[in-house]
Amino acid sequence: MKVIIIGCTHAGTAAAINTSKLYKDAKITVYERNDTISFLSCGIALYVGGVIKDVKGLFYSSPEHLKSLGVDTKMQHEVLDVDFDKKEVRVKDIKTGEEFTDSYDKLIITTGSWPILPKIEGFNLKNILLSKNYYHANDIIEKVKEVQNVVVVGAGYIGVELVEAFREKGKNVTLIDTQERILSKYLDKEFTDIAEEEIKKHDINLALSQTVVRFEGEDGKVKRVITDKGEYDADVVIVCVGFKPSTEMFKGKLNMLSNGAIIVDEYMRTSREDVFAAGDCAAVWYNPTKSYEYIPLATNAVRMGTLAARNLVDRSIKWRGTQGTSGIKIYDYNIASTGLIEEIAKQKGLNIQSVTIEDNYRPEFMPTYEKAKLKVVYESDTGRILGSQILSKHDLTPLMNTMSVFIQNEMTIEDLAFTDFFFQPHFNKPWNLLNIAGLNAI
Ligand SMILES: Cc1cc2nc3c(=O)[nH]c(=O)nc-3n(C[C@H](O)[C@H](O)[C@H](O)COP(=O)(O)OP(=O)(O)OC[C@H]3O[C@@H](n4cnc5c(N)ncnc54)[C@H](O)[C@@H]3O)c2cc1C
Repeated sequence: MKVIIIGCTHAGTAAAINTSKLYKDAKITVYERNDTISFLSCGIALYVGGVIKDVKGLFYSSPEHLKSLGVDTKMQHEVLDVDFDKKEVRVKDIKTGEEFTDSYDKLIITTGSWPILPKIEGFNLKNILLSKNYYHANDIIEKVKEVQNVVVVGAGYIGVELVEAFREKGKNVTLIDTQERILSKYLDKEFTDIAEEEIKKHDINLALSQTVVRFEGEDGKVKRVITDKGEYDADVVIVCVGFKPSTEMFKGKLNMLSNGAIIVDEYMRTSREDVFAAGDCAAVWYNPTKSYEYIPLATNAVRMGTLAARNLVDRSIKWRGTQGTSGIKIYDYNIASTGLIEEIAKQKGLNIQSVTIEDNYRPEFMPTYEKAKLKVVYESDTGRILGSQILSKHDLTPLMNTMSVFIQNEMTIEDLAFTDFFFQPHFNKPWNLLNIAGLNAI
């Protein structure tokens, strides 16, 4: 069996490793256009902020590692096109310029995503940078070294992590977003209020509810960011306003969402036979709304890549869907969320209720304790849990993994009130915070 994998970051690496383990006779070829594989972008802000000293730690595989598993990894090889009828891929060796055709029995598409490039005047000025891969990370570090004013456009996870890193390096930092709140897709206002307060306390300039209209420069380099409400000095600008799937070459050939995310079934099969897709190039089944959504996360990518391999020959293990569970640390606050937030659930017209509790995470007789804020969003009619958020200076983020299980298994707010959780004063109270949220709601 000849297997070709296109792209080798998280989904591709997971697909390659698992395919090699499961099908000993398979001839596996990976085509990757970069000269690195398996880069953990989630470490970019920590690398920029100087927390990660040795960048090698941000890679967990290599062509040599894959070779030891019997996988032939062709680096700096770009797949230009796929002929699904002939089961052939057209490949370009980037170093030599040579083009050739290769054939497959099974194809796994793991081409990932690329940052959305907004159409803004002046976007081509120097020092306007992206934050997606290893090269971007090095570029950011290099360009920011000598300058003072850094502007980040986009207050999602990546933007928020970056502004903290730049501030730690002593830069003047501005974070701009069209939305009126940071992290507005992941957290409701009562959580982002606290996070924003913390960010402002560290002298980061929050420029929310405003849209960038123009970048201005001098000598070809960016100098100012102009929004519909103000002007900000900028020696370096990082644009991180979201991602789009890298699937242009499959348009019209595979079923996709309107943004180009490839639709796969629960076995990671696309609309063409023997063609699988996984990771940021694909749409995911989102359990809270029971619909296909675009949620580019490494957690989804590794699970999907693994399942593509598992289901390559026979349908063996199903995708359980995702809740888009994610976490972030903002200074001393540990924050996580899973599923739908109240604001978005309401925008979608869902009939929902929510419960928010604030309590110390462990008994007040202990020498120390910290406040925690927990919110649960659930369907009014059925009590089915749709989402949850937590924030505390104590790390309670794993509770959102528990909530993710509740959502995935369609459990209710009543289940939450009476599920058995342990109690031990070091860790919690007799009624676990999750139980308390459930009890307050029923
Ligand atoms: C700054 C940052 C922080 C993040 N933090 C987190 C986090 O904390 N937690 C989390 O879960 N997720 C996080 N993510 C998201 C996560 O990195 C992505 O979801 C993940 O990288 C997706 O993996 P992938 O393999 O599907 O796609 P990608 O990482 O996009 O990789 C696709 C690969 O395919 C290659 N490729 C594409 N087209 C071709 C072609 N035609 N021929 C050959 N090769 C090709 C590319 O070069 C690339 O190596 C973060 C992302 C960024 C940018």
